[in-house]
Amino acid sequence: MGFSKGLFLRLARGGVVAAEVYDVVIVGAGPAGLTAAIYCVRSGLKAIIVGKVVGGQAAEASLIENYPGFKSIAGFELTSRMAEQVEELGVSIVGDEVVGVKEEDGLFKVRTSWSGELRCRALILAIGAEPRRLGVKGEEEFRGKGVSYCAVCDGPLFRGKRVAVVGGGNSALDAALYLSSLAEVVYLIHRRRQFRAVKALVDKVDGRSNIVKLLGKSPVEIGGDRLVEWIKVRDVETGVEEKIEVKGVFIEIGRAVNSDFLRGFVDLDEYGQIVVDQLCRTSRRGVFAAGDATTIPYKQVVIAAGEGAKAALSAYEYLSSRG
Ligand SMILES: Cc1cc2nc3c(=O)[nH]c(=O)nc-3n(C[C@H](O)[C@H](O)[C@H](O)COP(=O)(O)OP(=O)(O)OC[C@H]3O[C@@H](n4cnc5c(N)ncnc54)[C@H](O)[C@@H]3O)c2cc1C
Repeated sequence: MGFSKGLFLRLARGGVVAAEVYDVVIVGAGPAGLTAAIYCVRSGLKAIIVGKVVGGQAAEASLIENYPGFKSIAGFELTSRMAEQVEELGVSIVGDEVVGVKEEDGLFKVRTSWSGELRCRALILAIGAEPRRLGVKGEEEFRGKGVSYCAVCDGPLFRGKRVAVVGGGNSALDAALYLSSLAEVVYLIHRRRQFRAVKALVDKVDGRSNIVKLLGKSPVEIGGDRLVEWIKVRDVETGVEEKIEVKGVFIEIGRAVNSDFLRGFVDLDEYGQIVVDQLCRTSRRGVFAAGDATTIPYKQVVIAAGEGAKAALSAYEYLSSRG
């Protein structure tokens, strides 16, 4: 299942919507933003989504096995279904980045990279999180030339080759498992002696003969000629370094909220997460937030979707109370 032609067209021409005043602009097209849209439209609100990547992080998950109603479903398929539902309800999804927000003349003004300014009476921030950088030499230089932050997106390019996955949490092990069905060998590099991932994933990794665990090793450099050819790791105890020949390096060391454009507009915590109360209200009246970008614990699809629903219902309450 993919996106319908209509949705792609709307994603392609985001600029057509700037003249309207929307009841709600939703920033983010992941599970939180998409669910918020469904609840907005069913509450009779005129809403629009602006999001960089439809499906968000969930679209990167090889398999989601903890979303009720689906025993096992590819992340891309689950989020495509959400996006199609949103589209069928008549909500446009504009493929664009929001670079600034302000409140002026009783409206919120949402500045985008190329679709102009969107105006609304309430705002829902569902910007999720993005990959954290490793910060080693060669990472930026070889980005897109063998260095990747999305195993599901780029994994097929490394069929039959040797790859490395850096990280020890759920995302890293999920990536290693996915890649092990494509690559010849997957080196799973983690600086600690034990993985942080849930036991179910660790057990699965233990059962894959082509995943080589390199525990207690810290990556120090990625190198090659034009494309990645090796990753250098250092033993955290002995300091001994070794070069491992790989064609791809998948970095899965967690996610960070890119909320700099919200600084001074709503309260953020020390990690840049948007501070919300139990009704998804931020520190600014009329602005709501949901999902991985917020201070709500447990970053999961079902939770992001639930919080998106709550944010939309709170926005509805807020707009109704204003008359
Ligand atoms: C590899 C991987 C596997 C996972 N597996 C599972 C799993 O099996 N089960 C599970 O429950 N969870 C899983 N998760 C976690 C789950 O994907 C997240 O909890 C969920 O996607 C969060 O949804 P969200 O809508 O809050 O944020 P996101 O999914 O991060 O979506 C954020 C949206 O905001 C957009 N955005 C960000 N900044 C801007 C901006 N400035 N302007 C416009 N748009 C912006 C993004 O492009 C995206 O559309 C996994 C995550 C990863 C990375």
